[in-house]
Amino acid sequence: MSIHTVAPADFTSAGPPLQPGAFPDLAEEREILDSVNLQPLIEAVSKPYAGVGRRPHDRRAIVRAHFMAYLHKTIIGTVTALHWTLLNNATFRAACGFNGRVPSRPTLSRVWTQMAEYPEAVERIMDEIVREAKRIRPDLGEELAVDATPVRSYSDGNRKPRSDPDAEWGMHHKANTKEGFEWVFGYKLHVAADANYDFPIAMKFTPGNANDSPHMIPVIQDAERRLGSFPKSVLGDRGYDSAANSQWVDERGGAPIIHKRKPKSGLHQGEYTTDGIPICECGEVREYLFTNPANGVHHYGRAPDCRSDDEDSLCFITFWVNPQENVRLFGGEVRRGSDEWKQGYKKRWSVERVFSRWKVEGRLNDHRFRQSKTIRLHAMLQMLALQAVILTRMKASAAAPDGELWD
Ligand SMILES: [Zn+2]
Repeated sequence: MSIHTVAPADFTSAGPPLQPGAFPDLAEEREILDSVNLQPLIEAVSKPYAGVGRRPHDRRAIVRAHFMAYLHKTIIGTVTALHWTLLNNATFRAACGFNGRVPSRPTLSRVWTQMAEYPEAVERIMDEIVREAKRIRPDLGEELAVDATPVRSYSDGNRKPRSDPDAEWGMHHKANTKEGFEWVFGYKLHVAADANYDFPIAMKFTPGNANDSPHMIPVIQDAERRLGSFPKSVLGDRGYDSAANSQWVDERGGAPIIHKRKPKSGLHQGEYTTDGIPICECGEVREYLFTNPANGVHHYGRAPDCRSDDEDSLCFITFWVNPQENVRLFGGEVRRGSDEWKQGYKKRWSVERVFSRWKVEGRLNDHRFRQSKTIRLHAMLQMLALQAVILTRMKASAAAPDGELWD
């Protein structure tokens, strides 16, 4: 197992040498840890004690320790690092609930491997967190942003045979590179996050070569189940642009705010912009006039840049579109290209902020795991940690409702 492979030298180089008083009191981490009910996971990995031989280590403390590794400010990216921290940091040890004995590294690894067999237990913990957050902030989940991010496998995808048979090469957009993309060997995490609280609600974990678009509906369905309500709008980039996705959101009563891919010709059916706005005979974009509240039909007038002076030409005729004829092109409840649409679309960055928080402050790609189940657990605990952090802040700000959740 890869979780045993770290050399001690690798870890000791990651932090300063031990000094008295070097560790903070972990009050914040304790509070977050105590706000999460880890019981479903603890029960999943606990076997009843038969009363023969040495009493096994308390699974509760071990599960808490594994989760605490995602809350701690220092990157605890391996089981060796976690073991080292438990041995050397009495505050950390006490926060996890150990009294006296610290389990061996193999025991910590074994419990991790067991935990990886019970993703549904982690899902249940997330269910409860979202339910509690929704109780404090009833508008949670009204606007959901979907996106996907790569999760590396700690293995060499070019070597044969592959040490991680489930991982796949995936191409991912990456800003600040010459090509605009990068290849990552591993997996992909598809996430639906609340666009106002930057709160991840639901996730799907797939091999790295999976397309984004087919995972939108399952991840929104999971979010809906957790929230108990369908979002008012679903925000996504052009990776989610499909007639099926837009129609599904529209039929469920939400507004699809999904970026439109450009058709090769630049115009749709020769008469619409990518935002579904009709153009006139001279090829100019018409001016939006109004939407009939009775039937939802949008009316467009003459293009401001129209060059025609023939008042009998089509350029001068009011043009209308019924969005129900093509939700993907015209938008649904929210007219594509309208100010409301643009405002909603901007919020899809929320899920990018969630991902960057995992990358910068978290350890999403700072790990030495390989194989699907293990990395899935790693991704789930990373998400659970952020949910717990936000829930704790929501609880604190419930007394002061205007308080900001993020600095
Ligand atoms: Zn014209």
